[in-house]
Amino acid sequence: MTETVDAPATTRIPHWIGGRRVEGESGRSGPVYNPATGRQTGAVDFATAEEVDAAVSAAHDAFPAWRATSLAKRAELFFRIRELLHARRDEMAEILVREHGKVFSDALGEVTRGLEVVEHCCGIPSLIKGEHSEQASTGIDVYSIRQPLGVVAGITPFNFPAMVPMWMWAPAIASGNCFVLKPSEKDPSASLWVAELLREAGLPDGVFNVIMGDRVAVDALLEHSGIAAISFVGSTPIARYVYEKATASGKRCQALGGAKNHMIVLPDADVGAAADAAISAGYGSAGERCMAVSVVVAVGDVGDKLVAAIGDRIPKVRVGDGMDPSSEMGPLVTREHRDRVASYVENAPAEGATVVVDGREGVPAEGFFLNPSLLDGVTPAMKAYADEIFGPVLGVTRVETYEEAVRLVNESPYGNGVAIFTRDGGAARQFQFDVQAGMVGINVPIPVPVAYYSFGGWKSSLFGDRHVYGPEAIDFYTRGKVVTSRWPDPATSQIDLGFPQTR
Ligand code: NAD
Repeated sequence: MTETVDAPATTRIPHWIGGRRVEGESGRSGPVYNPATGRQTGAVDFATAEEVDAAVSAAHDAFPAWRATSLAKRAELFFRIRELLHARRDEMAEILVREHGKVFSDALGEVTRGLEVVEHCCGIPSLIKGEHSEQASTGIDVYSIRQPLGVVAGITPFNFPAMVPMWMWAPAIASGNCFVLKPSEKDPSASLWVAELLREAGLPDGVFNVIMGDRVAVDALLEHSGIAAISFVGSTPIARYVYEKATASGKRCQALGGAKNHMIVLPDADVGAAADAAISAGYGSAGERCMAVSVVVAVGDVGDKLVAAIGDRIPKVRVGDGMDPSSEMGPLVTREHRDRVASYVENAPAEGATVVVDGREGVPAEGFFLNPSLLDGVTPAMKAYADEIFGPVLGVTRVETYEEAVRLVNESPYGNGVAIFTRDGGAARQFQFDVQAGMVGINVPIPVPVAYYSFGGWKSSLFGDRHVYGPEAIDFYTRGKVVTSRWPDPATSQIDLGFPQTR
């Protein structure tokens, strides 16, 4: 992680603790860039363990009153949050463009999908409802309730600086918890903007806190005895580290990791529609999506037609500054990441793949741009297949049969998203039964579930047993309690030393 001194032309990005901005005192900070120009625009404070502790204390102070706040008031507040976010979504999208680089329409899509999670949480009174069994035994009723965990934390990646935090803070807070967010240090401003908006909506101070930083802040959260649960989204090695460390210290943890998403195209598929989907899902957000398609698996004789159709479409993808309304794909997040992604194109011929389109050609001199690349003849033995590239590089792998295609997906260490393109309903149904991945698209390339289902992958794409948002989030952020109750009736009272039995 690069460290830098605060440059005069840059904005300082501080923490948010107990309802106000708090400047960090570590003397450490990280650079924030506008990826379209390559220039540094901000310097984000890196927290010390003491600053993390201050955020956790603020959250603890706010917890008793917040958990006692009625469901009606929590729902009302979430409606206000929803209205403010909706009214100001353009403002938030612009922050995403300037620090992440994605194009404005895509940023607006991110905000809108996050907003759906907030909208779902407006229904917290019904989401958190328990069950009741009257007369479970004679004169005895049994019911279940769900209660918040206390202070919970979220650690988020750079690629969805608004939506992924919303996946976490919205259900956590709606369920009655207080929250500490550690956003990516590459594009942290959206989190500070949200903190101010939540305050404006009337969220009590201390219920939502933001701690900026790097590994020091993450470790302090993982080790903090005052934190009950950790939600993490990021790369697989860090997800594994976070899961192991958090659970070793007795915390509940869900840690979502990286991905390598396959899109299988059967010989009967509409080639034009499949090529459109591959372009959209492979190069949208410059491939910096955990649900991006990065391998197209061409089955049987569809390969030549498909590679030609994708290759024809690539020159029409307009790459440029995300604030230019004509741009369809923006730059990558940092220079280092752009260079790493480009190295897969450079090394492809030596690995035995064919570079059909080389995205290193014709990129603007300024900014962290890379044009879309297409590799053909990619095999599982190649790094271009095995690694999560996380950039605009689409690989095509050719196989003879449906069974080979499914085997490829099932042998992958990742299991986030997967898609099949076919006109054969029976094949699609069999695929949904066979495939080992958490989110399946049938003629849908990016099957991110709607807010009332839950999002999560299998295998190395998720450590833990609860997916994020939707019903599983309410489970994750609450503990169950079952109450067995009898109202005194002296007429039936008696001593019985046996183990209670239902009668
Ligand atoms: P990352 O793992 O580098 O960072 C994620 C978070 O972990 C950040 O807040 C970062 O500050 C922190 N972190 C980084 N290195 C750390 C370390 N050594 N110790 C402790 N904390 C550390 O991920 P990223 O590059 O920001 O995001 C891209 C990755 O996230 C991709 O692998 C992508 O697939 C994944 N992702 C997954 C999903 C999903 O739903 N499964 C969603 C979005 C992104």
